[in-house]
This record gives sequence, C-alpha cells and structure tokens, in this order.
Amino acid sequence: MTGVYAELKEAPIHEIDGRPTVGMMRALYGVRTSVLWAHFFDQLGFRVVLTPPTNQQMARAGIETMIAETCFPVRVSQGHAKQILGKTRFLFLPTLIDMPTPKPSERGFYCPLVQSNSYMLRAAFSIDPSNLLTPVLHLKHDPDTLCLEISDQIRSRLRVSKKAIKFALMNALEKQKHFMNELYHSGREILNDAVPDEPLVIVTGRPYNLYDERLNLRLGQNLAKIGVAALPMDFIDVSSIDLSDFPSMYWGLGAQIIRTAKSIKNSPHYFGLHLTNFSCGADSFIEHFYKHIMGEKPYLILELDEHSAAAGVMTRLEAYRNVIDNVMQKFDVTGKSGLKVAY
Ligand code: SF4
Repeated sequence: MTGVYAELKEAPIHEIDGRPTVGMMRALYGVRTSVLWAHFFDQLGFRVVLTPPTNQQMARAGIETMIAETCFPVRVSQGHAKQILGKTRFLFLPTLIDMPTPKPSERGFYCPLVQSNSYMLRAAFSIDPSNLLTPVLHLKHDPDTLCLEISDQIRSRLRVSKKAIKFALMNALEKQKHFMNELYHSGREILNDAVPDEPLVIVTGRPYNLYDERLNLRLGQNLAKIGVAALPMDFIDVSSIDLSDFPSMYWGLGAQIIRTAKSIKNSPHYFGLHLTNFSCGADSFIEHFYKHIMGEKPYLILELDEHSAAAGVMTRLEAYRNVIDNVMQKFDVTGKSGLKVAY
C-alpha cells in the first residue's frame, strides 16, 4: 500500500499533492478492506488518509462517546472516528453488508454492528453530511454489479465518471487479490520453514482485533516472548475446506474461523487460539462451533476488552504453552480439554 495512503497526524490534511483526501478508520472493516479502498481512491485522483494505530487515548475517547452498549472493537472505532472528524476533505464511512465468499451459496455477512457502524457514528457525532461518503455496499457482488452500486452512491459527490469508477474498482480488486496471494505465500513459507514436529499456534479472530495491538494487548509479541510460534489465520488459505456441515453459517468471518478451526483440528501439531471480545454476539455461537470442532484437542479462547491487562493474558498464555508441551510430550492430543479464559 506504500504510496497510495497517508497516516493522519494531528493537523487537518485536506489535500496531498493536489489530491483531495478521503479519511478512513483503521478500525473494524477498515483493517480488512483498506488495501482495496486506498487503491480505488488513488486511481480516481484522491488520497486515502488512515487513522493511526489504536492507542490508549483513542480507545478511551471511543468509550466516553458511546451512546449504546457494544463490544470493544466498536467502541474503539468511535475513537478512530473522533480522531479524524473534520480533518480530511471527505470522510468514507461505508456500510459494508457482506464480503466475498469461497462458494457463491455462502452468505458472507458482516456482523450487524459492523454493518450499522456508519449510522452509529453519525448519531454520536454531528458530522457535516456534505463531506460524507456513506455508500451501502455488497462486496460479495460481481465486479459489474458492485461498480453500479458504488457509482450510484458516490459518483456525483466525487464528480467522477462511471467509466473511471469501473477502471478504479477493477484495478483495486486486482491489488486486493495480489495482497491476499502475498499473504498466503508468506504463510506457506512460514509453514514450510517451521521446525517439524514443533507445535504451531494458529490464531483465529477478526482483523480488527488480530492486528490491532491495543485490542490484542500485543498478543504476537507476548507469544514470541514465551517461545510460542504462532500464525494468524489470514496467512492460511482455507477456502477449499468443506463447510457443508455448517450450511447456515451466516457470517463471512465466522466461516473463515470455522474452516481454520477444522484445519487446526486435522493437523496434529497445530493448536488453536481464538481471540474474541466480551459482548460479541457472533462469537456467542461461533465459540460453540469452535469447541465442537476441536473435540478433546486443547485450545485457548481469549476474551478481551478495555479492562483486560497484558500481565493477565501472559499468565494464560504460559498456562496454554504448558498444556501444549504436555500434549506434545505424550503425543496424545485426545487427553486434554479446552481452556476458556475470560476475565
Ligand atoms: S463480530 Fe463481534 S467483535 Fe466484531 S463487531 Fe460484531 S459483535 Fe463486535
């Protein structure tokens, strides 16, 4: 993404090199789709400006401005919105309904709190509507239909042609695909280089908690500190794993989590760590499916929010490492039960 986006500093930034800026939150859907949108707006002559990584001040600002009870990632998104309001020429707050799925028959919905985030932010803050881009989008649509959907909702405000939008979208979809392929390539290299017979922890979750160090309390660094090799789920292409035993799986990210859980279960040296948040409605179901898939294989579910602390997480990680070590010594993955941690 180098060269197609900038990071927000303190001062407003309405133009970069003659390009009007488009603000985006590095939160919720923004973590997964910013590659697509940065390239899309770049091709149209704009420059995406992302909020900086979440810090304590942004998390607190989000909590203080909430007008409803939600999970921690949604509260954090409100802190990101507060940070960027009024500081860019346009503010991009789309309503993303769904995401591409491995099979057309799958539904691929985003959670309703992600879908409704734009409405919640508009209710919480007095946002100048003349600067807002708030299209309702189905990323699962084929490119032509998605192009029509985008065009109808933002073309006149940005004063760009439908043809330009189509060109920009096709280019951005290619870049996003290339990015995903690079991730999978890195994942394969990591798996190939892994020491044979050594355990590997596969971490499932959602991009906005997996890759946000405030939300995950530096999980990756803490695992490394105690000598645990780990890989986030997005580095593994699980699209070919059969999901016919979960025919009603509603959530796009839920389907990815369940497919990854199956991959963990079927690989003797993989161990599962699922990262979730208090008040996560989707995970109140998905956790049960995850446990069902794991059976007697050990796993760890870490449930975090703004009250969680790194020291407490470290204790749980060390306990899980000991469980894994014991299982590996016995070469018996059937003798242990799951460990769920919420505090
Ligand atoms: S999936 Fe869970 S954590 Fe994510 S926004 Fe929805 S409720 Fe919050």
